[in-house]
Amino acid sequence: MASFDTVVLGGRAVLPGGEPIRADVGIRDGRIAAVGELASADADEAIDAGGKLLVPGAVDAHFHLGIYRDITEDSRSETLSSLAGGVTSIVSYFRTGSHYLGKSGPYAEILPEVLEKTNGHSYVDYGYHLAPMIREQVDEIERLVAEEGVASFKYYMFYKGLDLSGASSDARGYTLSEEYDLGHLFEIMEEVARVQGTRTDGSRVSLSIHCEQPELIRVFGERVKQDGTLTGLEAYSASRPTLTEHLAVAEVSVLAGHTRCPINLLHLSSEEALEAALELKRQHPDLDARLETTLHHLALTYESYNDQRGKVNPPIRAQSDVDALWRGVVNGEIDWVCSDHACCSEEHKEGDLWQALPGFGGTALIYPFMLTEGPRRGLSFAQVVDLVATNPARAYGLAPRKGAITVGADADLAIVDMDESHPVTPERLLSAQEYTPFEGMELTGWPVRTILRGRTVFAEGEAVGGPAGAYLKRPLEAGHPLAAP
Ligand SMILES: [Zn+2]
Repeated sequence: MASFDTVVLGGRAVLPGGEPIRADVGIRDGRIAAVGELASADADEAIDAGGKLLVPGAVDAHFHLGIYRDITEDSRSETLSSLAGGVTSIVSYFRTGSHYLGKSGPYAEILPEVLEKTNGHSYVDYGYHLAPMIREQVDEIERLVAEEGVASFKYYMFYKGLDLSGASSDARGYTLSEEYDLGHLFEIMEEVARVQGTRTDGSRVSLSIHCEQPELIRVFGERVKQDGTLTGLEAYSASRPTLTEHLAVAEVSVLAGHTRCPINLLHLSSEEALEAALELKRQHPDLDARLETTLHHLALTYESYNDQRGKVNPPIRAQSDVDALWRGVVNGEIDWVCSDHACCSEEHKEGDLWQALPGFGGTALIYPFMLTEGPRRGLSFAQVVDLVATNPARAYGLAPRKGAITVGADADLAIVDMDESHPVTPERLLSAQEYTPFEGMELTGWPVRTILRGRTVFAEGEAVGGPAGAYLKRPLEAGHPLAAP
């Protein structure tokens, strides 16, 4: 009898902390059962990695399933896109209010609806971060952690006083909440900190924060529109300047410092935002604060891509910001890199810049972009893996099951070709989005095969089999099998 279900032979494996080494991986019951020297006779199925790079499946920790499209359709098309980038787990943001399901109510009713609409339609394993938009949802945090496997929450600082000029007249119309302000944030932080304090299993409950300051956005937005000399993404960046991120992070610093709430500062876009985040950490050295940036903030500038399809919050910035973020990534100040994937079709990007919807996709570029640009900027392959897999898995209750090639972990793997390069095209990304702001970039490190819990789910540019992703009830327990959809 074979000792493994599958062996992956002849890969250059990126194991925790090390340079790639020649290692075979033995898989049994969807888990990694051995890493070492194995033979095809040891298994029912042998996969030849042919000297290519073998990395753990990436954990795309910032995703927006169903933000602008039907969540079931989005789950199918956009998680397929994840597979093309070697991503095997995502944690997606969901909230009540405008977009998504376009309604409000208790998560006790809404989360089951979200899961029902996702279950059986995702190609990757998936979890949800939830945003408490109304007071009664703050009271649900403890139960969501204890019973539903939701270990992380979100607050959007710029929704306070939001004026969507047309879509709705004020924040209430958008958030469907009575009060969405710093008082609400304070109460969320108190509750997340309290629930974290009750955890006895060492797991982390945290609050993710979108840091942009709305009163400054109002003032700078008016100025940019009146002045009228800037256009496209340069105008958009000027309407939400980096000062707005700085002030938002400073506000968070006071509140998180006081409440001791574990926080994640999302999608830092600029040198000023990163500096503010580092200042927060200096002021509160014992606070659990983790820093995130995105592929697009590391890849694009309003000079190189001044096309309004690249509208996103926070905006695409200048080259000096890209360089500062890379310094933060290389020196370990930034904990992880994600896509902030939001499938936003061309029709939503047309017409007036100020009315166009923010966001776009990128999940399929996680490994190709980071494996191409990371080493140029001084990252080792192991550091790339930490940034896109290990660190987000640890932050969000997925480690040690996800995010590293170790015995006992889920056999989530990507075999990556570092010898061939291909230009980014929308077709290669397998997303429903018709364009990509990354179009034309010449990247290496494209996955040729992606493996989810021991099964090949993507090979030669297409899906193998149907959606096989399971809901990630966090923290993932070490011994518990993931349910098939
Ligand atoms: Zn986002």
